[in-house]
Amino acid sequence: MSTAIGNEESPGIQAIPATSNELLLIDSHAFPGNRRFFITKTKADPGIGEFDPGKIKRKITVAVASGKGGTGKTTVAVSLALCAGIGTQLLDCDVEEPNAHIFINPKIRKREPVTMPVPFLDEKKCTGCEKCSGICEFNAIAFLKKPLFISELCHSCGLCVKICPEGAITEIKKDIGALEIGVKGNIDFVSGCMNVGTAMSPPVIRAVKKRLENSAFRIIDCPPGTACPFVTSVKNSDFVLLVTEPTPFGLHDMKLAIKVLKQLKLPFGIIVNKSVSDSDCIGKHCSTEKIPLMMRIPEERRIAEAYSCGISLAESMPEIRNKFETLITDIKKIVKEKNLK
Ligand code: SF4
Ligand code: SF4
Repeated sequence: MSTAIGNEESPGIQAIPATSNELLLIDSHAFPGNRRFFITKTKADPGIGEFDPGKIKRKITVAVASGKGGTGKTTVAVSLALCAGIGTQLLDCDVEEPNAHIFINPKIRKREPVTMPVPFLDEKKCTGCEKCSGICEFNAIAFLKKPLFISELCHSCGLCVKICPEGAITEIKKDIGALEIGVKGNIDFVSGCMNVGTAMSPPVIRAVKKRLENSAFRIIDCPPGTACPFVTSVKNSDFVLLVTEPTPFGLHDMKLAIKVLKQLKLPFGIIVNKSVSDSDCIGKHCSTEKIPLMMRIPEERRIAEAYSCGISLAESMPEIRNKFETLITDIKKIVKEKNLK
């Protein structure tokens, strides 16, 4: 049985006993990805009804993305993590070319393979009945008297396995990438990397996101572009920071990314990197469309020089740390207001 324990500050929270020492809290006002969370009972908070909802630390997931590659998305994600303090997790979902580790330099504690199930044919059992022919939505089955599976196109939906009347199709695990899990100071770090020759990145991205932990502030470094890898990375975030540069290409790709985020109904804000003027094309677009322009990063040679040596923005330009701290406060405020609506 659930008990309402919300108050004016944190309405909509219901608590359900989960295990002997855990409560499951469901926050109906939070974003879908963050609605359910567990908390451990302590001596100070022994059971339902004795929790102070004000004490419950909401988890916030911020995706740092960019329509266009090379805008400085990773340096923003890393700098956010370095300025966020205790309870921060950084997930590098740019799995085709992960590079956050270069700037964070974490101590890697664990390496794990990422696998996905793909169909495997037992030729002795197959009668060539053709039932599996043409059923694959992703054209991953060619039929030449018997099925031939093209694992690079397979999306692991399992339909062919289910449809075979002879039980001739089973699933085997295919290695598609690897995860690295580590730590640097206050930051828990997870990075995914696709194997060479792997065609689809979303399964590796999902494997990275499965490592989202109870950290108060979770930062996702997304892949560039606006296709499936971008959507998989930003999905269920509380806020998306779009990093762009003040050029016609930057504006064009930012508009594409905004279209996708609006369809996903995700709140977002803009960061202009390599900024030389407050009245550039990005600033004008944001003011016309009433899009929050959260921060400008100046175009400076020392930033580029530090970047080429694997030094993050927050470290190469210490005076910018205040801006990042304000940015974190602004994001938390926007997310809180959105959750209260
Ligand atoms: S459905 Fe099964 S038995 Fe029929 S052709 Fe496909 S694999 Fe062979
Ligand atoms: S598992 Fe799904 S996607 Fe993969 S080959 Fe079978 S039907 Fe196609």
